[in-house]
Amino acid sequence: MFIFLIVLIGVLVWMAVTFRARKAVKNCRWRENRGKDSGAGRYFICMNCGAETHTRDGKPPAACLRPPEQP
Ligand SMILES: [Zn+2]
Repeated sequence: MFIFLIVLIGVLVWMAVTFRARKAVKNCRWRENRGKDSGAGRYFICMNCGAETHTRDGKPPAACLRPPEQP
């Protein structure tokens, strides 16, 4: 009976972790455009939501930067 409770708690924690990870990614597909580089760094645009950003390390952002005014 004790082992069943531990397994149940483990499953609940696993579900919470995977749900949070899925929410953080949001299917962003970043594409770099060296022609639009600026002093802020390498230019990236998201092919899914159209968000634009610059990163100093030359890597795409980890999270989606979808503009908040979109429905
Ligand atoms: Zn996006």
